[in-house]
Amino acid sequence: MGTYYRVVGQCRDSLTNHLLESELRSLTSVLSNYDAESEISSFNRSDRVGEWVPVHETLVKVLAMAQTISEQTSGAFDVTVAPLVELWGFGSKEVTQPPSTESITRELHRVNYKLLELDEGNNALRKLSNIKLDLSGIGKGYGVDHIAEVLADQRCSDFLIDIGGEIRVQGHNALSHSWRIGIEVPDGTGQAEVFLNLSSGAIATSGSYRNYRIFDEESYPHVIDPRSGYPTSHNLTAVTVYRSTATEADALATALFVMGYDDALEFAESHDIAVALTTWDADSEKHSASYSSAMRVLIKEGN
Ligand code: ADP
Ligand code: MG
Repeated sequence: MGTYYRVVGQCRDSLTNHLLESELRSLTSVLSNYDAESEISSFNRSDRVGEWVPVHETLVKVLAMAQTISEQTSGAFDVTVAPLVELWGFGSKEVTQPPSTESITRELHRVNYKLLELDEGNNALRKLSNIKLDLSGIGKGYGVDHIAEVLADQRCSDFLIDIGGEIRVQGHNALSHSWRIGIEVPDGTGQAEVFLNLSSGAIATSGSYRNYRIFDEESYPHVIDPRSGYPTSHNLTAVTVYRSTATEADALATALFVMGYDDALEFAESHDIAVALTTWDADSEKHSASYSSAMRVLIKEGN
């Protein structure tokens, strides 16, 4: 998945790196855009438009969750964003200039989650146009949830799983306290301002401060609005979401990041989601954090 993983747990059965790694390897062999031989990469290469293609059940499961979040967020989250990710230089090819408006308009025709159909009963997918999928906005979260299931099978009652900053916890730590998760200030120092004390659930963050391209001295973050074709360009620097599963937290964090501050906060309030938003104020050159009501409750319990 192009990142690290970390698992801390208390298990009755033995838990080996070997087991975790073979589970993660089999996931990436289905879901990873980085692996040219993965199932997703071969689906992307296929030009079978209109035909049902049988695929691994894991792929259908992840895509079903992705489609639900796309519906919920009016397309702010959209796994068919891949051609735009490539165009803006976040894919396999290096890009040295921002893409032309013509090329963005051209690629936008094949970016829409409604151009992908799923048959969950038969584990099959169908492209309604020449679409390509990118699971980077949800795959790590799914990986975290999958490892949580593996740990449950190994009779682990207490654990923390972290794949590239997407985290899920259960129970308590070695000191018998609930897990204490800091929400990092997005200034590169790695310091946290607020903490959550959690004994279940998942935390995921999307941000503009780790992965971006610079063209003509302007910074373009790796989260792209699938409706406009452009990388997000607002003052939001990070969105952290708490949810019961990491898959949902991961995809929602990406979606809320696309929405921008006002819409993200409104979405969080109307859906009762715990969200922390960090914005950058260019005048004062400072980050400032805001929280949805549900997040304020969590923080109060944690500090
Ligand atoms: P990270 O990978 O740093 O955890 P995200 O979870 O926000 O960050 O995922 C961002 C990645 O998801 C991008 O690098 C890109 O591959 C893909 N992506 C970009 N925009 C979208 C979008 N609107 N919907 C779904 N995936 C996206
Ligand atoms: Mg995400």
